[in-house]
Amino acid sequence: MSVPSAPFPACANAPRILVIAPNWIGDAVMAQPLLRLLKQQHPEHAIDVLAAAWVAPVLRAMAEVDTVLETPFKHGALQLRERWRYARQLRQRGYVAAYVLPNTLKFALIPWLAGIPKRVGYKGESRYVLINLMHHDDPAAPRAMVPFYAALATEPATQITMPIARPSLFVNETQIAATFTQLGLSLLKPLICFAPGAEFGNAKRWPASHFAQLADQVAVANPETQIVLLGSPKDSAVCDEIKALSPSVHHFAGKTSLDQAIALIARAAAMVSNDSGLLHIASALNRPVIALYGPTDPEHAPPFSDVAHSLSLHLSCAPCKQRECPLGHHDCMQKLSAEMVWAPLQAILQHPVRG
Ligand code: SF4
Repeated sequence: MSVPSAPFPACANAPRILVIAPNWIGDAVMAQPLLRLLKQQHPEHAIDVLAAAWVAPVLRAMAEVDTVLETPFKHGALQLRERWRYARQLRQRGYVAAYVLPNTLKFALIPWLAGIPKRVGYKGESRYVLINLMHHDDPAAPRAMVPFYAALATEPATQITMPIARPSLFVNETQIAATFTQLGLSLLKPLICFAPGAEFGNAKRWPASHFAQLADQVAVANPETQIVLLGSPKDSAVCDEIKALSPSVHHFAGKTSLDQAIALIARAAAMVSNDSGLLHIASALNRPVIALYGPTDPEHAPPFSDVAHSLSLHLSCAPCKQRECPLGHHDCMQKLSAEMVWAPLQAILQHPVRG
């Protein structure tokens, strides 16, 4: 494991708060209202976020964050000695408080080892002592992530009664322009992002053939429009299929950084996405979104842009919440046709929303 050999960037005089970010992209987006509340409560404090490399770009798109520190730890590994060495370096930053968003023991170890006096988080894995301002939730109740995280800005055992603003991300124009140039795209033509991946499993994926049919419909109706496929290297194979069926699309899955994907989404005329982390990024950038649901509940974490459509066939077997279709036919996605998605997408393209 590589712990930074050089010290962290020079400490500013401002008191600092450390937030340890969730490890999932969608959850990281849902943590933004907590950061906004912390900034409102402590405007003079700088907020650092410790985040895994794969979610760090989401934190970099939050206006409240002063510095993003990427964790050098391997996913799922305890690495006690490395955490102790890293915590010693964090100690130099002079944090006055830490908010630990993951519920695992290993992340709560870091602020305790770093000697941070106020350590806020949920009980999680019985993290007594490590967390000294402990919150409790009802594990049996359905968990809405925005209030779950935002509650950490309040005293334990209080309900958040005030309205919580929805998550919001920000990308500046320079980053957007640079990304379009790097990827050979035009800022003068409309851009539609497709997110055909789904980390959770194949059951959440709208078929590649349907994405390709939708791309063809867009090309016929709006030949100027640029369609980009976004996703991680794990989504590359399904995007290969779409590209083979509809060659005019730009296949960027696994070929762009998440920073670049966020910059593209920030300028998109529309996003068509499976139930995935990129969907929540598009919502937080307030882009028009069409979300496609099969085995998951469209009411659980719906898109929250001003223009958002959740499409689901609401089959009697849904939401099964399975990674693979237990019935073998995958009708929840197969029977959600390209025409059904084209109808709201066409309406979005006829009334563009400025990014
Ligand atoms: S069981 Fe029903 S909801 Fe679940 S994947 Fe299959 S078709 Fe979709």
